[in-house]
Amino acid sequence: NRRIVLAPRPSGAPVPDNFRLETPSVPEPSSGQVLLRTLWLSLDPYMRGRMSEAPSYAPPVDIGEVMVGGTVSQVVTSNRDDFAPGDLVLGVSGWQEYALSDGSDLTKLPRDMTHPSWALGVLGMPGFTAWHGLLKIGEPKAGETVVVAAASGPVGATVGQIAKIRGARVIGVAGGERKCRHVVQELGFDACIDHRAPDFAAQLKAACPGGIDVYFENVGGMVFDAVLPLLNDHARMPVCGVIAHYNDDYALQPGPDRLPYFASLILRKRFRVQGFIITDHYADEYADFARQMGAWVHDGRVRYFEDIVDGLEKAPDVFIGLLEGRNNGKLVVRMSND
Ligand code: NDP
Repeated sequence: NRRIVLAPRPSGAPVPDNFRLETPSVPEPSSGQVLLRTLWLSLDPYMRGRMSEAPSYAPPVDIGEVMVGGTVSQVVTSNRDDFAPGDLVLGVSGWQEYALSDGSDLTKLPRDMTHPSWALGVLGMPGFTAWHGLLKIGEPKAGETVVVAAASGPVGATVGQIAKIRGARVIGVAGGERKCRHVVQELGFDACIDHRAPDFAAQLKAACPGGIDVYFENVGGMVFDAVLPLLNDHARMPVCGVIAHYNDDYALQPGPDRLPYFASLILRKRFRVQGFIITDHYADEYADFARQMGAWVHDGRVRYFEDIVDGLEKAPDVFIGLLEGRNNGKLVVRMSND
């Protein structure tokens, strides 16, 4: 059995020394518990936030504690009537090969599910994030222009494809030519701009001749700067993530202050800017999402691409890479715990 725990907290970008691999014995389930073997571990940007002590919407991981994470697991032994050995479950075992659960944090998946790991992506949390943020806050209409960055990742890719289904014009932003090509050719966006290009802002402006009606905010940073002057009256901005700032310290920093400009635009152009944390919406909306997204994926109207990495020991390095844009599609770890 292997697990990865938080070693010292990072300051700035995480490095390998912020993680430690441990080899405890496989735990024994007590009465009312099940023993789970992890098959798939999801790696997601929010994990950077859990490595920090700063107050947030979820408590931090303690030093020495197993890193958090969504997982698809198989039940090995069960001391519960509602789970049987062999059951496939979606859970939150974190970065470890075996875990115990009392069942309250588990959702059963069909045993014959074709792609169980998709429950960590387009058919799970990131897909739900895209669906809720775009349809409940962004509300794109046919003919409007939607811009989304991190466009090849699970949230951005799904946002863009749903916006196309709604009849919008969709411009992606991604890092590098290869990702941009994928976003246009495989995901069907109308265009994709490389945020590393020196004339990125000019290219984005040229791709949005009618301005921007919905900016699905995933990254912040210079993408946000380039988007601001292009926003139309009554633009909507679901604020989903600001990954360009996850390594910042959240205290107020001296430096160029965009707030007065942004606030005056919000007023003059009557924007709607709304942050959301997807865990707030499971009870009310998840069933609708699951039905609609299941159909779209089944019909091929929404396509999904994964970046599969083998072995838990690779998780720290590829997670560090996720924050730098080294992933191609949804990053998942396939566990090799025989
Ligand atoms: P991705 O798999 O898309 O990975 C993150 C991507 O962000 C990288 O691959 C990189 O892509 C891009 N990126 C990193 N740094 C920068 C930067 N400085 N400027 C521009 N792009 C950058 O992630 P997800 O699809 O899982 O998540 C996307 C966003 O959604 C994140 O901000 C995440 O925190 C947020 N989120 C929010 C939720 C909520 O409840 N509010 C729930 C789930 C996700 P590239 O190479 O293309 O730049």
